[in-house]
Amino acid sequence: MSSKVKAGSQGFLKKYVLDEGLCTGCGACVNLCPYQVIYHDRTVQLHPCDLENGKCCASCPRTAADHTPLRKLLFEPADLTPEIGAVKDYYFSRAVDPHLRAVAQHGATVTALLELALAEGLIDSAIVSSRDQQFLQNGALVKDRVEIRKNAGSKFIVSPTVAAFNQLVTQEAGNVGVVATPCQALALAKMKSIKENNSRISQLKLVVGLYCGWTLSMEKYTKLLSEKNIVPESIKKMDIPAGKNILELYTDDGAISIPFDEVQACIRDACQYCMDSTAEYADVSVGSARFAGNWEEVREWNQLIVRTEKGREWVDLAIKRGVLEVWEAPAASLQELKDAAANKKKNALKNIIRKSGSVKNLLYLKSNDAVVKKYLGVKGKNRTEKKK
Ligand SMILES: Cc1cc2nc3c(=O)[nH]c(=O)nc-3n(C[C@H](O)[C@H](O)[C@H](O)COP(=O)(O)OP(=O)(O)OC[C@H]3O[C@@H](n4cnc5c(N)ncnc54)[C@H](O)[C@@H]3O)c2cc1C
Ligand code: SF4
Ligand code: SF4
Repeated sequence: MSSKVKAGSQGFLKKYVLDEGLCTGCGACVNLCPYQVIYHDRTVQLHPCDLENGKCCASCPRTAADHTPLRKLLFEPADLTPEIGAVKDYYFSRAVDPHLRAVAQHGATVTALLELALAEGLIDSAIVSSRDQQFLQNGALVKDRVEIRKNAGSKFIVSPTVAAFNQLVTQEAGNVGVVATPCQALALAKMKSIKENNSRISQLKLVVGLYCGWTLSMEKYTKLLSEKNIVPESIKKMDIPAGKNILELYTDDGAISIPFDEVQACIRDACQYCMDSTAEYADVSVGSARFAGNWEEVREWNQLIVRTEKGREWVDLAIKRGVLEVWEAPAASLQELKDAAANKKKNALKNIIRKSGSVKNLLYLKSNDAVVKKYLGVKGKNRTEKKK
């Protein structure tokens, strides 16, 4: 491939995203054409394509885009915060059904909301993360409660739910809800903003975002497991208990703890450059709760950010139907979350500048973006982001 590539082309994606180690594995560029595929957790190009303005490039969360119109398209300006995006409501929440909580990651808020959306006809199908026998992650289109529950729980390896969206959302899928990490929610938002993308993306009705600190590189993580004689297929669930500095793996033979400094070496490179910890481009975002108390009790709860009017109607309905239990989280919790999110943004910017070698080259970020400016310490005259 020539060293000069056209902005917006597949060659651009290769040179500035894939070869630079910036690819998050979100899957947005996959299944749009036969040339972009996922191999394990890596996105590869099978063949060069000479189309100049590909949807692959336009949808990628790691190509530069102006986020101001994206935020305008999706959110009320008055709800925007620089740290965590739009906030209408902020709760601690959990599914009322204890059987559901038992199979889910934390409070089962994500699964309860998806089940309700299906039952009430807000969506006809949902895209969730699935895992096959070889421990490979994928996205699956599910249409009923049993399938949704079967795929509950967090997998800390990339699960390309947006590639599944591109592949599986046909007319028969009807209206769709997608579970997305922050980079995937951004990809879906970019897809919504592409005018000629109207057919499939118009079926996307709800996005449940997951908080995300990082994902693991499949290669490094499987090597670590092998060094510890842990069989990947035996892992039924994984979690990062608050304040313990470990990754906990729940296997057929009980729980195994791995010290976090060993896990850190397995984090996917692209995550170092990530500014979003709370899935700012979702309708609602869900993470694990953080409040004083025994972890076994705390882990049964989620943090829930309601971001859009659609998200608010959905959550209100879930409360009304008695499937979700919520309490308004104290202001101090929201501040704690904002501080942690701001730190992730600052670290990402530091890592980006270290990688590019210049504050003038922010790789995939635009230096005139209001949020980027704020965390670079640049003061603008007209702040478009209103602090909550
Ligand atoms: C890679 C990753 C990193 C995370 N990092 C943090 C963090 O730093 N802090 C924090 O508070 N929370 C984090 N979370 C979110 C947390 O683990 C829970 O997903 C969240 O609290 C929701 O819990 P729940 O009980 O409602 O989920 P459930 O009801 O169990 O539903 C979880 C849903 O997520 C889907 N899913 C699982 N893995 C993935 C994946 N890799 N990609 C896309 N969808 C997936 C499942 O299919 C399921 O539909 C992370 C999640 C992931 C996947
Ligand atoms: S769209 Fe997603 S999977 Fe494709 S190159 Fe960009 S980050 Fe990687
Ligand atoms: S840390 Fe960021 S880039 Fe990495 S998986 Fe999570 S949202 Fe994507």
